Amino acid sequence: MTPALIVHGGAGVATPPALQAERRSGLEAAFAAGWSILGQGGTALDAVVQATVTLEDHPLFNAGLGSCLTEDGTVEVDASLMDGSTFQTGAVGAVRNIKNAIQLARAVMTDGRHVFLVGEGAERFAREHGLPPATMDELITARQHQRWQAQQTAGEPGTVGAVALDSAGGLAAATSTGGVMGKRSGRVGDSAVIGAGTYADSAIGACSVTGDGEDIIRATLARTAVELLRGGKDPAQAARAALARLTRQTRGEAGLILLDPFGRSGVVYNTESMGVALRLGSGQALRAEGRLVARV
Ligand code: ASP
Repeated sequence: MTPALIVHGGAGVATPPALQAERRSGLEAAFAAGWSILGQGGTALDAVVQATVTLEDHPLFNAGLGSCLTEDGTVEVDASLMDGSTFQTGAVGAVRNIKNAIQLARAVMTDGRHVFLVGEGAERFAREHGLPPATMDELITARQHQRWQAQQTAGEPGTVGAVALDSAGGLAAATSTGGVMGKRSGRVGDSAVIGAGTYADSAIGACSVTGDGEDIIRATLARTAVELLRGGKDPAQAARAALARLTRQTRGEAGLILLDPFGRSGVVYNTESMGVALRLGSGQALRAEGRLVARV
């Protein structure tokens, strides 16, 4: 089976030109990190985690370092992942003092006692499982602090996610975010919610979503998109149909990446832009600002 990987850097308003190149190279680095795992026969789950960690560590994406701030000026992150072969999942919501929420979600999944931990209990779990703490100061970039001070709540892209197909035919999905600027403390969005922001079933497909979290939860968008693949339907069509359903039900703005067990993809968004890097056996393509900018 030829592996496939799609990585996204969030849907939202167009990225300022001055930041486009740096965001694009961040996406490329995340793609390369995930692809090297798949290329060596690694699992889809390892690949989506590694791609997501790379973007959590990048200051220009709204996840981990560089997350947007709550109305109180704090960082609270959400993340989730799903292994489509075992149906194991892990999710964390409204967690402070952690950079790599996707690794925490994975630890929750591996531990297996629960699938979703939030807030202070999730932070304690992180320490118990050896995940390093990060202070607010370490997570808040000058750029996000300025946006918070200026109350810039426009839907800037930056949530991150990935879907992968490995050489054994396994599918997996992961999503991580700082949420939305100025959110209430304690708010949890779709990125932490299995079925809404993240879903994978190796027999049907894998999906990671970005956009208006409340609407995406209302529409259980990730699972909807995967279910629309049933019967071998074309992922591009399924992705469009899922987004159309969201629009009809909620008028929400969103984007999603979708992969099927044959390595076919669907990438859609109804925002101004969504950055995506992908490879589907035939070559790598990098999309930023909605345009195809590179093919390798
Ligand atoms: N979906 C994320 C949330 O609502 C935000 C985003 O994707 O931009 O938390």
